[in-house]
Amino acid sequence: MLVYHLPGTFETREAHLDLLWEAGATGLEERAGLIRAYFDEQTDLPADIRDGEWRDEADQDWQAEFKANLRPVQAGRVTIVPPWLRAEVPAGQVPLIIEPGMAFGTGHHATTRMAVEALSALNLDGQTVLDVGTGSGVLAIAAALLDARYALGVDIDPITIPIATENAEQNGVPAGRAAFMVGTLGDDLPGDVVADGVFDVLVANLYAELHDLLSGSYVGHLRAGGPLILTGILTSKLPLVHEALDREGFTDVQVRTDGDWALVTARN
Ligand code: SAM
Repeated sequence: MLVYHLPGTFETREAHLDLLWEAGATGLEERAGLIRAYFDEQTDLPADIRDGEWRDEADQDWQAEFKANLRPVQAGRVTIVPPWLRAEVPAGQVPLIIEPGMAFGTGHHATTRMAVEALSALNLDGQTVLDVGTGSGVLAIAAALLDARYALGVDIDPITIPIATENAEQNGVPAGRAAFMVGTLGDDLPGDVVADGVFDVLVANLYAELHDLLSGSYVGHLRAGGPLILTGILTSKLPLVHEALDREGFTDVQVRTDGDWALVTARN
């Protein structure tokens, strides 16, 4: 089995994942700070991704091994599980089923877990929620399962949309309660449910630099007083996010961390 080992994670090499697919990768996996790209044959790679190494590995069912090692993830009132661990969700917890696949967001990353916890700490009953950078749809689906009236997940990566839609179906969330679209803030959001594009809650698991760039748009898409939940932030980059939120007039800024990762909440 031919595997190209590229240093980094899906997050740090996000801009390079498309290059791997375009070069003919048949699958991508992230493990221990390394992206493993599976290929049928060795090929010339573009300069941006030439810092990796080709390996001919003994055939092994990595997928099966990865799946066998997955455990349920408890995040506040929600427990995130792959479909085959549904029976392991403790009584009283809201089950959130995510099929591990190509889109980020199985719940096993600290940022996803902290974001679900933050959503779970809110009363979302009847609220509208915007999830920017939805990936697997995990945060929008969590919001819908926590009684949000409508959750919209947007992502610039088109492969995420069918995955998120399928995950919502798998959780029994009706199409009218959670919707997914390719795009980002600044695009026209569908106006059928939230006509003015202003949501009650905004959650975004992106990265600090992007939060800095998008913070003005967060103001425009979040109702006055509405909670903002931002993660994907390395603790070393927290000052950038604090400055952006101060600049845009957000209040009640609070931080929690898990290892190198931070989650910031604030009010519009
Ligand atoms: N929401 C999921 C979670 O919390 O696990 C996935 C988060 S993943 C770290 C970030 C996602 O944001 C990726 O799916 C990526 O394609 C998307 N993304 C990156 N830049 C974006 C942008 N400017 N607008 C919308 N989505 C973006």
